[in-house]
Amino acid sequence: MMTLTQILSNLGIDEASIQGGELVVHSPTDGAVLGQIKVCSSEEVEIAITEAQAAFHEWKTVPAPKRGELIRVLGNKLREHKETLGELVTLECGKIYQEGLGEVQEMIDICDFAVGLSRQLYGLTIASERPGHRMAETWHPIGPIGVISAFNFPVAVWCWNTALAIVCGNSVIWKPSEKTPITAIACQKLFEEAAREVGNVPAGLSQLLIGEAAVGAQLVADKRVPVISATGSTAMGRKVGPVVAQRFGRSILELGGNNAIIVCPSADLDMAVRAILFGAVGTAGQRCTSTRRLFVHESIYDSLVPSLKAAYQRIRVGNPMDPKTLVGPLIDGSAYQMMQQALSAISAPRIGGERVLSEEYPGGYYVTPALVEMPISDRTVQEETFAPILYIYPYQDLNEAIRQHNDVPQGLSSSIFTNDIREAELFLSVAGSDCGIANVNIGTSGAEIGGAFGGEKETGGGRESGSDAWKGYMRRTTSTINYSTELPLAQGIEFDL
Ligand code: NAD
Repeated sequence: MMTLTQILSNLGIDEASIQGGELVVHSPTDGAVLGQIKVCSSEEVEIAITEAQAAFHEWKTVPAPKRGELIRVLGNKLREHKETLGELVTLECGKIYQEGLGEVQEMIDICDFAVGLSRQLYGLTIASERPGHRMAETWHPIGPIGVISAFNFPVAVWCWNTALAIVCGNSVIWKPSEKTPITAIACQKLFEEAAREVGNVPAGLSQLLIGEAAVGAQLVADKRVPVISATGSTAMGRKVGPVVAQRFGRSILELGGNNAIIVCPSADLDMAVRAILFGAVGTAGQRCTSTRRLFVHESIYDSLVPSLKAAYQRIRVGNPMDPKTLVGPLIDGSAYQMMQQALSAISAPRIGGERVLSEEYPGGYYVTPALVEMPISDRTVQEETFAPILYIYPYQDLNEAIRQHNDVPQGLSSSIFTNDIREAELFLSVAGSDCGIANVNIGTSGAEIGGAFGGEKETGGGRESGSDAWKGYMRRTTSTINYSTELPLAQGIEFDL
Protein backbone atom coordinates (compact mmCIF):
# COMPACT_ATOMS: atom_id res chain seq x y z
CA MET A 1 0.00 0.00 0.00
CA MET A 2 1.38 3.39 -1.03
CA THR A 3 1.25 6.54 1.04
CA LEU A 4 -0.64 9.53 -0.34
CA THR A 5 2.71 11.20 -1.03
CA GLN A 6 3.82 8.22 -3.15
CA ILE A 7 0.48 8.09 -4.97
CA LEU A 8 0.65 11.78 -5.80
CA SER A 9 4.25 11.54 -6.88
CA ASN A 10 3.44 8.56 -9.18
CA LEU A 11 0.72 10.64 -10.76
CA GLY A 12 2.99 13.68 -11.07
CA ILE A 13 0.87 15.82 -8.74
CA ASP A 14 2.61 18.33 -6.52
CA GLU A 15 1.46 17.65 -2.94
CA ALA A 16 1.51 21.38 -2.19
CA SER A 17 -1.27 21.80 -4.77
CA ILE A 18 -3.70 19.98 -2.48
CA GLN A 19 -2.82 22.00 0.62
CA GLY A 20 -3.83 25.37 1.98
CA GLY A 21 -7.37 25.49 0.60
CA GLU A 22 -10.70 25.66 2.39
CA LEU A 23 -12.14 22.25 1.41
CA VAL A 24 -10.87 19.71 3.93
CA VAL A 25 -10.84 16.16 2.56
CA HIS A 26 -10.90 13.21 4.95
CA SER A 27 -10.13 9.60 4.20
CA PRO A 28 -13.15 7.48 5.20
CA THR A 29 -10.67 4.77 6.17
CA ASP A 30 -9.55 6.50 9.37
CA GLY A 31 -10.76 10.08 9.14
CA ALA A 32 -7.24 11.39 8.47
CA VAL A 33 -7.00 14.65 6.57
CA LEU A 34 -5.82 13.95 3.02
CA GLY A 35 -5.73 17.50 1.80
CA GLN A 36 -7.15 21.00 1.95
CA ILE A 37 -8.19 21.93 -1.52
CA LYS A 38 -8.80 25.33 -2.97
CA VAL A 39 -12.43 25.86 -3.95
CA CYS A 40 -13.37 27.59 -7.22
CA SER A 41 -14.74 31.08 -6.91
CA SER A 42 -17.73 32.22 -8.91
CA GLU A 43 -15.38 34.18 -11.21
CA GLU A 44 -13.32 31.05 -11.83
CA VAL A 45 -16.44 29.11 -12.77
CA GLU A 46 -17.32 31.89 -15.20
CA ILE A 47 -13.84 31.80 -16.76
CA ALA A 48 -13.90 28.01 -17.03
CA ILE A 49 -17.20 28.09 -18.92
CA THR A 50 -15.91 30.78 -21.28
CA GLU A 51 -12.76 28.74 -21.97
CA ALA A 52 -14.75 25.55 -22.43
CA GLN A 53 -16.89 27.32 -25.00
CA ALA A 54 -13.83 28.51 -26.93
CA ALA A 55 -12.31 25.02 -26.78
CA PHE A 56 -15.57 23.56 -28.06
CA HIS A 57 -15.57 25.78 -31.15
CA GLU A 58 -12.09 24.53 -32.05
CA TRP A 59 -12.65 20.90 -31.17
CA LYS A 60 -15.98 20.46 -32.93
CA THR A 61 -14.33 20.73 -36.35
CA VAL A 62 -11.59 18.18 -35.61
CA PRO A 63 -12.58 14.94 -37.40
CA ALA A 64 -14.15 12.51 -34.96
CA PRO A 65 -11.57 9.70 -35.46
CA LYS A 66 -8.86 12.23 -34.60
CA ARG A 67 -10.80 13.15 -31.47
CA GLY A 68 -10.83 9.44 -30.70
CA GLU A 69 -7.02 9.47 -30.71
CA LEU A 70 -7.05 11.67 -27.59
CA ILE A 71 -9.27 9.19 -25.79
CA ARG A 72 -7.09 6.29 -26.96
CA VAL A 73 -4.09 7.96 -25.33
CA LEU A 74 -6.13 8.74 -22.20
CA GLY A 75 -7.10 5.05 -22.01
CA ASN A 76 -3.43 4.08 -22.19
CA LYS A 77 -2.55 6.55 -19.43
CA LEU A 78 -5.24 4.92 -17.31
CA ARG A 79 -3.80 1.48 -18.03
CA GLU A 80 -0.37 2.73 -17.01
CA HIS A 81 -1.68 4.24 -13.75
CA LYS A 82 -4.42 1.72 -12.97
CA GLU A 83 -2.97 0.54 -9.65
CA THR A 84 -2.05 4.02 -8.44
CA LEU A 85 -5.40 5.56 -9.33
CA GLY A 86 -7.18 2.51 -7.89
CA GLU A 87 -5.37 3.05 -4.58
CA LEU A 88 -6.27 6.72 -4.57
CA VAL A 89 -9.94 5.84 -5.14
CA THR A 90 -9.74 3.47 -2.17
CA LEU A 91 -8.04 6.03 0.01
CA GLU A 92 -10.45 8.85 -0.80
CA CYS A 93 -13.82 7.10 -1.08
CA GLY A 94 -13.21 3.96 0.99
CA LYS A 95 -14.21 1.24 -1.47
CA ILE A 96 -12.05 -1.88 -1.28
CA TYR A 97 -8.98 -1.94 -3.51
CA GLN A 98 -10.46 -4.58 -5.84
CA GLU A 99 -13.37 -2.24 -6.47
CA GLY A 100 -11.01 0.72 -6.83
CA LEU A 101 -9.21 -1.22 -9.56
CA GLY A 102 -12.55 -2.21 -11.07
CA GLU A 103 -13.56 1.42 -11.26
CA VAL A 104 -10.40 2.33 -13.17
CA GLN A 105 -10.94 -0.67 -15.45
CA GLU A 106 -14.39 0.72 -16.21
CA MET A 107 -12.69 3.95 -17.31
CA ILE A 108 -10.37 2.01 -19.59
CA ASP A 109 -13.30 0.07 -21.03
CA ILE A 110 -15.31 3.21 -21.82
CA CYS A 111 -12.23 4.77 -23.44
CA ASP A 112 -11.92 1.72 -25.72
CA PHE A 113 -15.63 1.94 -26.48
CA ALA A 114 -15.38 5.66 -27.27
CA VAL A 115 -12.39 5.18 -29.57
CA GLY A 116 -14.42 2.71 -31.65
CA LEU A 117 -17.40 5.02 -31.47
CA SER A 118 -15.35 7.87 -32.91
CA ARG A 119 -15.62 6.09 -36.26
CA GLN A 120 -19.27 5.17 -35.81
CA LEU A 121 -21.25 8.33 -35.08
CA TYR A 122 -23.79 7.17 -37.59
CA GLY A 123 -26.77 9.09 -38.84
CA LEU A 124 -29.63 7.76 -40.96
CA THR A 125 -30.64 7.96 -44.59
CA ILE A 126 -34.42 8.23 -44.75
CA ALA A 127 -36.73 7.55 -47.70
CA SER A 128 -38.30 10.79 -48.88
CA GLU A 129 -41.93 10.87 -50.03
CA ARG A 130 -40.92 13.30 -52.82
CA PRO A 131 -39.30 12.21 -56.11
CA GLY A 132 -35.67 13.28 -56.54
CA HIS A 133 -35.27 13.92 -52.84
CA ARG A 134 -33.25 12.31 -50.11
CA MET A 135 -33.50 12.75 -46.34
CA ALA A 136 -30.66 12.39 -43.89
CA GLU A 137 -30.02 12.70 -40.20
CA THR A 138 -26.63 13.97 -39.02
CA TRP A 139 -25.28 14.15 -35.47
CA HIS A 140 -23.25 17.22 -34.54
CA PRO A 141 -21.29 18.23 -31.45
CA ILE A 142 -23.48 20.28 -29.11
CA GLY A 143 -21.27 22.37 -26.78
CA PRO A 144 -19.63 22.23 -23.36
CA ILE A 145 -20.95 19.31 -21.30
CA GLY A 146 -21.34 19.91 -17.55
CA VAL A 147 -20.62 16.80 -15.48
CA ILE A 148 -21.59 16.61 -11.82
CA SER A 149 -20.58 13.45 -10.03
CA ALA A 150 -21.16 11.65 -6.74
CA PHE A 151 -18.62 10.43 -4.19
CA ASN A 152 -19.22 6.71 -4.66
CA PHE A 153 -17.93 6.50 -8.25
CA PRO A 154 -15.44 9.32 -8.05
CA VAL A 155 -13.66 8.62 -11.33
CA ALA A 156 -15.68 6.24 -13.55
CA VAL A 157 -18.70 8.52 -13.95
CA TRP A 158 -16.47 11.36 -15.15
CA CYS A 159 -14.88 9.03 -17.67
CA TRP A 160 -18.22 7.62 -18.91
CA ASN A 161 -19.25 11.18 -19.71
CA THR A 162 -15.91 12.57 -20.83
CA ALA A 163 -14.84 9.76 -23.16
CA LEU A 164 -18.14 10.01 -25.05
CA ALA A 165 -18.45 13.80 -24.90
CA ILE A 166 -14.93 14.31 -26.26
CA VAL A 167 -15.24 11.92 -29.21
CA CYS A 168 -18.61 13.53 -29.93
CA GLY A 169 -16.74 16.84 -30.34
CA ASN A 170 -17.57 18.63 -27.09
CA SER A 171 -15.62 20.14 -24.24
CA VAL A 172 -16.25 19.02 -20.64
CA ILE A 173 -16.57 20.90 -17.35
CA TRP A 174 -16.51 18.63 -14.31
CA LYS A 175 -17.75 19.37 -10.79
CA PRO A 176 -16.81 16.27 -8.78
CA SER A 177 -18.15 15.44 -5.33
CA GLU A 178 -16.72 17.67 -2.64
CA LYS A 179 -15.90 14.44 -0.79
CA THR A 180 -13.56 13.17 -3.53
CA PRO A 181 -11.73 16.07 -5.19
CA ILE A 182 -8.25 14.51 -5.12
CA THR A 183 -9.16 11.66 -7.46
CA ALA A 184 -10.65 14.33 -9.72
CA ILE A 185 -7.39 16.29 -9.71
CA ALA A 186 -5.61 13.04 -10.68
CA CYS A 187 -8.00 12.40 -13.59
CA GLN A 188 -7.63 15.96 -14.85
CA LYS A 189 -3.84 15.57 -14.71
CA LEU A 190 -3.98 12.37 -16.78
CA PHE A 191 -6.26 14.07 -19.29
CA GLU A 192 -3.86 17.01 -19.61
CA GLU A 193 -0.92 14.64 -20.11
CA ALA A 194 -2.83 12.80 -22.83
CA ALA A 195 -3.71 16.11 -24.49
CA ARG A 196 -0.06 17.20 -24.44
CA GLU A 197 1.05 13.90 -25.90
CA VAL A 198 -1.50 14.05 -28.72
CA GLY A 199 -0.82 17.74 -29.44
CA ASN A 200 -3.04 20.41 -31.00
CA VAL A 201 -5.71 19.90 -28.37
CA PRO A 202 -7.36 23.21 -27.43
CA ALA A 203 -6.62 24.48 -23.93
CA GLY A 204 -9.64 24.20 -21.67
CA LEU A 205 -11.11 21.15 -23.43
CA SER A 206 -11.48 19.51 -20.02
CA GLN A 207 -12.01 21.74 -17.00
CA LEU A 208 -12.23 20.87 -13.33
CA LEU A 209 -14.27 22.89 -10.85
CA ILE A 210 -13.66 21.95 -7.23
CA GLY A 211 -16.32 22.97 -4.76
CA GLU A 212 -19.56 22.20 -3.00
CA ALA A 213 -23.10 22.25 -4.37
CA ALA A 214 -23.02 26.01 -5.06
CA VAL A 215 -20.27 25.57 -7.67
CA GLY A 216 -22.37 22.87 -9.36
CA ALA A 217 -25.45 25.09 -9.16
CA GLN A 218 -23.66 27.88 -11.06
CA LEU A 219 -22.68 25.47 -13.80
CA VAL A 220 -26.21 24.08 -13.97
CA ALA A 221 -27.76 27.53 -14.38
CA ASP A 222 -25.44 28.65 -17.20
CA LYS A 223 -27.07 28.77 -20.65
CA ARG A 224 -23.74 28.23 -22.38
CA VAL A 225 -23.70 24.64 -21.11
CA PRO A 226 -26.31 22.86 -23.23
CA VAL A 227 -26.04 19.48 -21.49
CA ILE A 228 -25.79 18.78 -17.78
CA SER A 229 -25.04 15.20 -16.83
CA ALA A 230 -25.67 14.97 -13.08
CA THR A 231 -25.10 11.89 -10.96
CA GLY A 232 -26.13 11.86 -7.32
CA SER A 233 -29.12 11.73 -5.03
CA THR A 234 -32.70 12.21 -6.12
CA ALA A 235 -32.77 15.31 -3.88
CA MET A 236 -29.97 16.79 -6.00
CA GLY A 237 -31.73 15.88 -9.26
CA ARG A 238 -34.92 17.51 -8.03
CA LYS A 239 -33.02 20.80 -7.81
CA VAL A 240 -30.90 20.45 -10.94
CA GLY A 241 -33.58 19.14 -13.35
CA PRO A 242 -35.95 22.16 -13.23
CA VAL A 243 -33.10 24.69 -13.52
CA VAL A 244 -31.79 23.03 -16.68
CA ALA A 245 -35.31 22.61 -18.08
CA GLN A 246 -36.14 26.26 -17.47
CA ARG A 247 -33.33 27.39 -19.75
CA PHE A 248 -34.22 24.65 -22.30
CA GLY A 249 -31.01 22.76 -21.64
CA ARG A 250 -30.81 18.98 -21.67
CA SER A 251 -30.15 17.02 -18.54
CA ILE A 252 -28.91 13.48 -18.17
CA LEU A 253 -29.95 12.60 -14.62
CA GLU A 254 -28.49 9.54 -12.89
CA LEU A 255 -30.05 9.51 -9.44
CA GLY A 256 -30.85 7.20 -6.57
CA GLY A 257 -31.99 3.59 -6.75
CA ASN A 258 -33.98 1.20 -4.57
CA ASN A 259 -33.00 -1.96 -6.32
CA ALA A 260 -34.39 -5.43 -5.74
CA ILE A 261 -33.81 -9.07 -6.54
CA ILE A 262 -36.60 -11.64 -6.80
CA VAL A 263 -35.58 -15.23 -6.05
CA CYS A 264 -37.94 -17.83 -7.50
CA PRO A 265 -38.37 -21.48 -6.46
CA SER A 266 -36.31 -22.86 -9.38
CA ALA A 267 -33.35 -20.54 -8.75
CA ASP A 268 -29.79 -21.76 -8.30
CA LEU A 269 -29.56 -20.73 -4.66
CA ASP A 270 -25.77 -20.80 -4.41
CA MET A 271 -25.52 -18.37 -7.28
CA ALA A 272 -28.30 -16.27 -5.82
CA VAL A 273 -26.57 -16.00 -2.42
CA ARG A 274 -23.31 -14.88 -4.04
CA ALA A 275 -25.06 -12.31 -6.19
CA ILE A 276 -27.15 -10.96 -3.32
CA LEU A 277 -24.06 -10.69 -1.16
CA PHE A 278 -22.09 -8.70 -3.72
CA GLY A 279 -25.12 -6.56 -4.56
CA ALA A 280 -26.06 -5.75 -0.97
CA VAL A 281 -22.71 -5.37 0.77
CA GLY A 282 -20.30 -4.49 -2.09
CA THR A 283 -18.98 -0.92 -1.77
CA ALA A 284 -20.52 -1.06 1.74
CA GLY A 285 -23.98 -0.71 0.15
CA GLN A 286 -22.95 2.61 -1.39
CA ARG A 287 -23.64 1.89 -5.05
CA CYS A 288 -26.60 3.39 -6.86
CA THR A 289 -27.27 -0.19 -8.00
CA SER A 290 -26.82 -1.80 -4.54
CA THR A 291 -29.40 -4.46 -3.75
CA ARG A 292 -31.68 -2.99 -1.10
CA ARG A 293 -34.72 -5.27 -1.26
CA LEU A 294 -35.01 -9.02 -1.67
CA PHE A 295 -38.20 -10.93 -2.50
CA VAL A 296 -37.89 -14.64 -1.73
CA HIS A 297 -40.52 -17.23 -2.62
CA GLU A 298 -41.85 -18.71 0.59
CA SER A 299 -41.01 -22.27 -0.55
CA ILE A 300 -37.26 -21.52 -0.54
CA TYR A 301 -37.21 -18.86 2.18
CA ASP A 302 -35.97 -21.30 4.83
CA SER A 303 -33.08 -22.47 2.70
CA LEU A 304 -32.00 -19.19 1.12
CA VAL A 305 -32.22 -16.85 4.09
CA PRO A 306 -30.18 -19.02 6.52
CA SER A 307 -27.46 -19.42 3.83
CA LEU A 308 -27.45 -15.68 3.35
CA LYS A 309 -27.19 -15.08 7.09
CA ALA A 310 -24.32 -17.55 7.28
CA ALA A 311 -22.58 -15.71 4.44
CA TYR A 312 -23.14 -12.39 6.25
CA GLN A 313 -21.41 -13.79 9.34
CA ARG A 314 -18.31 -14.52 7.27
CA ILE A 315 -18.01 -11.04 5.70
CA ARG A 316 -14.79 -9.34 6.66
CA VAL A 317 -15.29 -5.67 7.47
CA GLY A 318 -12.10 -3.65 7.69
CA ASN A 319 -9.48 -1.50 6.09
CA PRO A 320 -10.30 -1.35 2.36
CA MET A 321 -6.65 -1.80 1.40
CA ASP A 322 -6.47 -5.17 3.17
CA PRO A 323 -7.00 -7.84 0.46
CA LYS A 324 -9.09 -9.93 2.89
CA THR A 325 -11.59 -7.11 3.43
CA LEU A 326 -14.91 -7.29 1.58
CA VAL A 327 -16.60 -4.31 3.21
CA GLY A 328 -14.79 -1.04 3.84
CA PRO A 329 -16.05 2.01 5.73
CA LEU A 330 -19.05 4.21 5.07
CA ILE A 331 -18.10 7.54 3.56
CA ASP A 332 -18.54 9.48 6.82
CA GLY A 333 -20.31 9.90 10.14
CA SER A 334 -23.45 11.33 8.60
CA ALA A 335 -23.84 8.21 6.40
CA TYR A 336 -23.57 6.17 9.60
CA GLN A 337 -26.26 8.29 11.30
CA MET A 338 -28.60 7.84 8.33
CA MET A 339 -28.08 4.09 8.48
CA GLN A 340 -28.88 4.03 12.20
CA GLN A 341 -32.00 6.14 11.66
CA ALA A 342 -33.24 3.82 8.92
CA LEU A 343 -32.63 0.76 11.10
CA SER A 344 -34.32 2.20 14.17
CA ALA A 345 -37.39 3.20 12.10
CA ILE A 346 -38.31 -0.45 11.55
CA SER A 347 -38.85 -3.02 14.25
CA ALA A 348 -38.24 -6.36 12.56
CA PRO A 349 -35.78 -9.19 13.18
CA ARG A 350 -32.34 -8.24 11.97
CA ILE A 351 -28.69 -9.15 12.02
CA GLY A 352 -25.85 -6.64 11.65
CA GLY A 353 -25.98 -2.88 11.46
CA GLU A 354 -23.54 -2.24 14.32
CA ARG A 355 -20.55 0.03 14.23
CA VAL A 356 -17.27 -1.91 14.50
CA LEU A 357 -13.54 -1.12 14.68
CA SER A 358 -14.24 2.23 16.33
CA GLU A 359 -11.31 1.78 18.71
CA GLU A 360 -8.85 1.04 15.93
CA TYR A 361 -10.31 3.75 13.65
CA PRO A 362 -12.13 6.34 15.76
CA GLY A 363 -12.47 8.55 12.68
CA GLY A 364 -13.70 5.73 10.38
CA TYR A 365 -17.29 4.51 10.25
CA TYR A 366 -17.25 0.76 9.75
CA VAL A 367 -20.48 -1.22 10.07
CA THR A 368 -21.54 -4.82 9.83
CA PRO A 369 -23.97 -5.12 6.90
CA ALA A 370 -27.57 -5.46 8.06
CA LEU A 371 -30.19 -8.00 7.01
CA VAL A 372 -33.75 -7.15 8.04
CA GLU A 373 -36.49 -9.78 7.76
CA MET A 374 -39.62 -7.86 6.96
CA PRO A 375 -43.17 -9.04 7.56
CA ILE A 376 -45.48 -9.51 4.57
CA SER A 377 -47.05 -6.15 3.86
CA ASP A 378 -48.53 -4.22 0.97
CA ARG A 379 -45.63 -1.83 0.54
CA THR A 380 -41.91 -2.23 0.71
CA VAL A 381 -39.35 0.30 1.91
CA GLN A 382 -39.63 3.40 -0.26
CA GLU A 383 -36.39 5.30 0.45
CA GLU A 384 -32.82 4.69 -0.56
CA THR A 385 -30.55 4.57 2.50
CA PHE A 386 -27.01 4.74 1.18
CA ALA A 387 -25.64 1.98 3.44
CA PRO A 388 -25.57 -1.83 3.54
CA ILE A 389 -29.13 -2.64 4.62
CA LEU A 390 -31.00 -5.44 2.87
CA TYR A 391 -34.75 -5.81 3.51
CA ILE A 392 -36.04 -9.33 2.89
CA TYR A 393 -39.68 -10.01 2.00
CA PRO A 394 -41.28 -13.43 1.55
CA TYR A 395 -43.68 -13.76 -1.40
CA GLN A 396 -46.19 -16.29 -2.64
CA ASP A 397 -47.18 -15.08 -6.10
CA LEU A 398 -44.69 -13.75 -8.66
CA ASN A 399 -47.09 -11.15 -10.06
CA GLU A 400 -47.59 -9.74 -6.58
CA ALA A 401 -43.81 -9.73 -5.99
CA ILE A 402 -43.34 -7.81 -9.26
CA ARG A 403 -46.06 -5.34 -8.23
CA GLN A 404 -44.28 -4.68 -4.93
CA HIS A 405 -40.93 -4.62 -6.67
CA ASN A 406 -42.17 -1.77 -8.88
CA ASP A 407 -44.09 0.02 -6.15
CA VAL A 408 -41.25 2.40 -5.21
CA PRO A 409 -40.42 5.88 -6.51
CA GLN A 410 -37.07 4.78 -8.00
CA GLY A 411 -36.43 2.59 -11.06
CA LEU A 412 -32.75 1.85 -11.54
CA SER A 413 -31.71 -1.81 -11.35
CA SER A 414 -33.45 -5.13 -10.79
CA SER A 415 -32.95 -8.82 -11.20
CA ILE A 416 -34.64 -12.18 -11.01
CA PHE A 417 -33.10 -15.53 -10.13
CA THR A 418 -34.99 -18.33 -11.84
CA ASN A 419 -34.43 -21.27 -14.15
CA ASP A 420 -38.00 -21.04 -15.39
CA ILE A 421 -38.08 -19.30 -18.77
CA ARG A 422 -41.65 -18.12 -18.26
CA GLU A 423 -40.75 -16.32 -15.04
CA ALA A 424 -37.61 -14.80 -16.58
CA GLU A 425 -39.46 -13.55 -19.66
CA LEU A 426 -42.34 -12.19 -17.58
CA PHE A 427 -39.85 -10.20 -15.49
CA LEU A 428 -38.22 -8.75 -18.62
CA SER A 429 -41.56 -8.04 -20.32
CA VAL A 430 -43.70 -4.92 -20.14
CA ALA A 431 -45.59 -6.60 -17.29
CA GLY A 432 -42.33 -7.13 -15.39
CA SER A 433 -39.65 -4.89 -13.91
CA ASP A 434 -40.10 -1.16 -14.56
CA CYS A 435 -36.39 -0.42 -14.11
CA GLY A 436 -33.78 0.79 -16.59
CA ILE A 437 -31.77 -2.34 -15.84
CA ALA A 438 -33.42 -5.77 -15.56
CA ASN A 439 -31.18 -8.82 -15.20
CA VAL A 440 -31.65 -12.58 -15.09
CA ASN A 441 -29.46 -14.75 -12.85
CA ILE A 442 -26.99 -12.00 -12.08
CA GLY A 443 -27.30 -9.33 -9.40
CA THR A 444 -28.35 -5.69 -9.59
CA SER A 445 -24.90 -4.11 -9.49
CA GLY A 446 -21.72 -4.26 -11.55
CA ALA A 447 -22.99 -3.28 -15.00
CA GLU A 448 -20.76 -3.54 -18.07
CA ILE A 449 -20.07 -0.37 -20.04
CA GLY A 450 -21.45 -1.80 -23.31
CA GLY A 451 -25.09 -1.26 -22.31
CA ALA A 452 -26.92 2.00 -21.72
CA PHE A 453 -26.83 2.69 -17.98
CA GLY A 454 -29.57 4.50 -16.06
CA GLY A 455 -33.06 4.24 -14.67
CA GLU A 456 -36.61 5.49 -14.72
CA LYS A 457 -38.92 7.45 -12.39
CA GLU A 458 -37.02 9.25 -9.62
CA THR A 459 -33.77 7.72 -10.86
CA GLY A 460 -34.03 10.49 -13.44
CA GLY A 461 -34.43 8.80 -16.84
CA GLY A 462 -30.89 9.56 -18.06
CA ARG A 463 -28.71 7.08 -19.92
CA GLU A 464 -24.92 7.01 -19.98
CA SER A 465 -22.16 4.71 -21.10
CA GLY A 466 -22.78 2.23 -23.94
CA SER A 467 -25.40 1.49 -26.61
CA ASP A 468 -26.61 4.78 -28.15
CA ALA A 469 -26.12 6.88 -24.99
CA TRP A 470 -23.66 8.98 -27.08
CA LYS A 471 -26.66 10.65 -28.72
CA GLY A 472 -27.24 12.48 -25.43
CA TYR A 473 -24.01 14.41 -26.10
CA MET A 474 -24.87 15.52 -29.63
CA ARG A 475 -27.49 17.48 -31.49
CA ARG A 476 -29.41 16.05 -34.42
CA THR A 477 -29.95 17.73 -37.77
CA THR A 478 -32.56 16.44 -40.20
CA SER A 479 -31.82 17.41 -43.81
CA THR A 480 -33.96 17.06 -46.93
CA ILE A 481 -31.96 17.35 -50.15
CA ASN A 482 -33.65 18.03 -53.47
CA TYR A 483 -31.64 16.82 -56.48
CA SER A 484 -34.55 17.16 -58.95
CA THR A 485 -35.59 20.16 -61.06
CA GLU A 486 -39.03 20.37 -59.43
CA LEU A 487 -40.08 21.80 -56.09
CA PRO A 488 -42.78 19.42 -54.82
CA LEU A 489 -44.10 20.19 -51.34
CA ALA A 490 -44.52 17.58 -48.63
CA GLN A 491 -47.99 16.10 -48.11
CA GLY A 492 -48.72 16.91 -51.79
CA ILE A 493 -49.65 20.51 -50.97
CA GLU A 494 -50.23 22.73 -54.07
CA PHE A 495 -48.96 26.28 -53.61
CA ASP A 496 -48.63 27.73 -57.13
CA LEU A 497 -48.95 31.38 -58.15
P1 NAD B 1 -25.24 14.06 -3.68
O1 NAD B 1 -26.56 14.25 -4.35
O2 NAD B 1 -25.10 14.48 -2.28
O3 NAD B 1 -24.10 14.83 -4.51
C1 NAD B 1 -23.83 14.52 -5.85
C2 NAD B 1 -23.18 15.72 -6.53
O4 NAD B 1 -24.17 16.73 -6.73
C3 NAD B 1 -22.05 16.37 -5.73
O5 NAD B 1 -21.02 16.72 -6.61
C4 NAD B 1 -22.73 17.61 -5.17
O6 NAD B 1 -21.86 18.65 -4.85
C5 NAD B 1 -23.66 17.98 -6.30
N1 NAD B 1 -24.81 18.83 -5.97
C6 NAD B 1 -25.61 18.75 -4.90
N2 NAD B 1 -26.60 19.68 -4.97
C7 NAD B 1 -26.41 20.35 -6.13
C8 NAD B 1 -27.10 21.42 -6.78
N3 NAD B 1 -28.18 21.98 -6.24
N4 NAD B 1 -26.63 21.85 -7.97
C9 NAD B 1 -25.55 21.27 -8.53
N5 NAD B 1 -24.85 20.27 -7.95
C10 NAD B 1 -25.28 19.81 -6.77
O7 NAD B 1 -24.88 12.51 -3.84
P2 NAD B 1 -23.72 11.66 -3.15
O8 NAD B 1 -24.00 11.49 -1.70
O9 NAD B 1 -22.39 12.17 -3.56
O10 NAD B 1 -23.91 10.25 -3.90
C11 NAD B 1 -24.83 9.28 -3.52
C12 NAD B 1 -26.08 9.34 -4.35
O11 NAD B 1 -25.76 9.28 -5.75
C13 NAD B 1 -26.99 8.15 -4.13
O12 NAD B 1 -28.33 8.59 -4.11
C14 NAD B 1 -26.74 7.26 -5.33
O13 NAD B 1 -27.79 6.36 -5.64
C15 NAD B 1 -26.53 8.28 -6.40
N6 NAD B 1 -25.79 7.75 -7.54
C16 NAD B 1 -26.47 7.48 -8.68
C17 NAD B 1 -25.82 6.91 -9.76
C18 NAD B 1 -26.56 6.57 -11.03
O14 NAD B 1 -25.89 6.35 -12.02
N7 NAD B 1 -27.88 6.51 -11.04
C19 NAD B 1 -24.45 6.64 -9.68
C20 NAD B 1 -23.78 6.94 -8.49
C21 NAD B 1 -24.45 7.50 -7.42
